[in-house]
Amino acid sequence: MENKKFDVAVIGGGPAGLAAALAAEKQGAKVILIERENSLGGILKQCIHDGFGLIRFKKKMAGPEYALSFIEEVEKSSVKVELLTFVTKITKTGSEIKVTVVNNQGISSIEVKTLVLSTGCRERTARQVAIHGTRPAGVFTAGTAQYYTNILGQLPTKKCIILGSGDIGLIMARRLTLEGAKVLGVYEAKSSPSGLRRNISQCLYDFNIPLYTSHTVTRVFGQDRLTGVEISKVDGKMQPIKGTEELLECDSLILSVGLIPENELAEGLNIPLDSKIKGPIADQNYMTMEQGIFTCGNAMHVNDLVDYVSESGEAAGKAAAEYSKGRRKIAKVNCGENILYEVPQILDLENIKGETVMFFRADRDMGPSELRVTVDGNEVFKKKYRALRPPEMERIQVDFQGVEINEKSNIQLSLREVKE
Ligand SMILES: Cc1cc2nc3c(=O)[nH]c(=O)nc-3n(C[C@H](O)[C@H](O)[C@H](O)COP(=O)(O)OP(=O)(O)OC[C@H]3O[C@@H](n4cnc5c(N)ncnc54)[C@H](O)[C@@H]3O)c2cc1C
Repeated sequence: MENKKFDVAVIGGGPAGLAAALAAEKQGAKVILIERENSLGGILKQCIHDGFGLIRFKKKMAGPEYALSFIEEVEKSSVKVELLTFVTKITKTGSEIKVTVVNNQGISSIEVKTLVLSTGCRERTARQVAIHGTRPAGVFTAGTAQYYTNILGQLPTKKCIILGSGDIGLIMARRLTLEGAKVLGVYEAKSSPSGLRRNISQCLYDFNIPLYTSHTVTRVFGQDRLTGVEISKVDGKMQPIKGTEELLECDSLILSVGLIPENELAEGLNIPLDSKIKGPIADQNYMTMEQGIFTCGNAMHVNDLVDYVSESGEAAGKAAAEYSKGRRKIAKVNCGENILYEVPQILDLENIKGETVMFFRADRDMGPSELRVTVDGNEVFKKKYRALRPPEMERIQVDFQGVEINEKSNIQLSLREVKE
């Protein structure tokens, strides 16, 4: 790398990083975008189904098509793109940030003023859901099955079951069926599915793929290759119920049991993470608790829609380019009744400009409900919903300008059910 000094480094070239790099460049910053894979686009490269871009572009796009619209802009811009380059370490001394990278030219470092972490998320694996039995080939995460099918053009299974009803599992149930595999069913330990309603309808019901809630896989069988699985019903605490075991013959078990933000780099910097969502705690301008270091996209919290990922990337990139050192005045935002989580977790009272974009999820399925945002008990925002479900993330815009808030204020989001 010939030039080793930049204003902003963006780590990760998925939709969040692409939007962040473009937004920072538009503010006049000298930007470097670092990606470990051999092309930009992140996970969207393998998501060949449609349904992306409904909010941003008002049309249904395939994942690679959505990514391409940003990649083309990056190619026309002055953003320096480094592919096949892995960020191994970040150090911060005072206001100096040093990014250590490794690529085919060896190990080198880049000095930057600010940094955007857009490293995405990773899938939970079989190890994280503790299934008994042997360890044969044929146990895949849904993302790996998607990579085999859509990128390598190899069908990883002829007959499978899917454990977990996350969106990637639902999409793969349909994809594998379209490619001629038999999907015996999607099994979900919780009493309600984890994926978006539209995916349950379009990926399972339209293809007659059964969905079994309150069921899990308790054992796998097979030596070299998986030959079958044991399914059991579970109780309200998700514990298998003895006597309900059923054996199913199949060659693969596909796991869709959740995504976790990828934050080893943030952890290396001792940046505090939100214990519920495993992403860095950040303010309304996407700055983490470490000055000059920003987060966005799925590295911050797992988003349902890529449109919101791009929105957060844009805001983080713009803020990273505009960042000028100065003391922050931080007030904490709290999750009240029936809120599973919300972001941003903190507000920087010195830098509230325009309306604050906030995201939240309900902690259970709810009927007609009202969301209230309060500051020291005074209502500053409310909104009614016909129904809310934890898999569906909600976006609101709250105007905190002119509201009396100090560092000790109790800012809270809460939900309660109401009559329609
Ligand atoms: C397997 C899978 C399938 C998905 N399918 C769908 C779907 O069908 N529909 C949908 O709406 N959403 C889907 N999602 C959610 C999807 O991740 C988001 O919508 C969106 O792509 C997230 O964007 P991102 O930029 O935050 O992360 P990503 O797209 O994951 O991009 C992160 C990028 O960071 C790079 N990176 C990470 N660490 C480093 C490092 N240390 N150095 C350099 N580069 C690094 C990665 O290589 C990657 O390119 C899926 C997620 C996964 C994991």
